[in-house]
Amino acid sequence: MSRPSDLPSEFELIARYFAPLATHEGARGLADDVAVLAPAPGKAHVLTVDTIVEGVHYLPEDPPQLVARKLLRVNLSDLAAKGARPVGYLLAASFGKSVTADWLAAFASGLAADQETYGLSLLGGDTTANPGPTTLSVTVIGEAEERTVVRRSGAKPGEGIYVSGTLGDAALGLRAIRGELSRLETSDREFLAGRFRLPEPRLALGQALLGVASATIDISDGLIADLGHVCQESAVRAEVALEDVPLSAAARRALAVDPALRDDVLGGGDDYEILFTASPNAERALTEAAMRARLAFSRIGTIREGAGIEVTDRAGRPVAVKHAGFRHF
Ligand code: ADP
Ligand code: MG
Repeated sequence: MSRPSDLPSEFELIARYFAPLATHEGARGLADDVAVLAPAPGKAHVLTVDTIVEGVHYLPEDPPQLVARKLLRVNLSDLAAKGARPVGYLLAASFGKSVTADWLAAFASGLAADQETYGLSLLGGDTTANPGPTTLSVTVIGEAEERTVVRRSGAKPGEGIYVSGTLGDAALGLRAIRGELSRLETSDREFLAGRFRLPEPRLALGQALLGVASATIDISDGLIADLGHVCQESAVRAEVALEDVPLSAAARRALAVDPALRDDVLGGGDDYEILFTASPNAERALTEAAMRARLAFSRIGTIREGAGIEVTDRAGRPVAVKHAGFRHF
């Protein structure tokens, strides 16, 4: 496969853009066939992978730094949900025709910035060129005590359902980027767009919830879809009070203009907040965890026996839930 326009050869490309990011000694400077990694004594490795495709998850004209940072952050969000500490990542990159040397330099600088923020190193990867869209796949490796890694399957009847931060911002932000929400102030549209462009993996909260939360998941596909995964795996039902779902001030103003945007709050993805369940006795421990993580959380409902999710409005009437998250196929 011939390489795009002004890119150097595969080996020079790796040496120039990626080797400087391989700060972990186990990465061997990307000069070997493999990276070698031992978990710290008593710890287990926690692994996850995410792929983004040009034209599907981002646009060719999006700033490459942001593409890089979001790629790392969506993976880090999975580690956050499980209370793991990031160690490093592998990057499988297949560059399409739109990728230039400038694009790559900016992409690498975005990776460097978030490696610094979250304390992880590039460990290795694979580099190819292709005639279609650029496809970027990151596998992150985290570390946690095996016993304490929280599952989706631990929710029990009577427990509270909680979410961190605010929901719906990213879905509304995508609308703002597409030129909708024109009746909102520019500052609101910018806030919402920022929440879509650059999520914040809730690593500190995830770690603080270890030993407190009974089930956790990160909200990548939307509240209803991801709460649905917890209910399915835990074999329980969820009751959610719509008015308790936390909204940002900007989202509240968007819904005041168009109440139908409520579907973005329940069904929209990309918020990367953490949803968790916990026993009613854990209230104090939860408050301490939130203080340690410097992040607010809200109780949105209760786990019950049964199956499925029931959302009710202020008057206790059932709310129809439209879409249940984005699916590729
Ligand atoms: P092989 O052909 O044996 O798979 P490569 O030539 O693809 O080896 O890779 C050489 C080294 O460079 C390996 O350590 C590999 O992990 C690393 N590497 C290749 N591509 C990337 C990339 N996109 N990001 C990080 N490391 C990479
Ligand atoms: Mg290779």
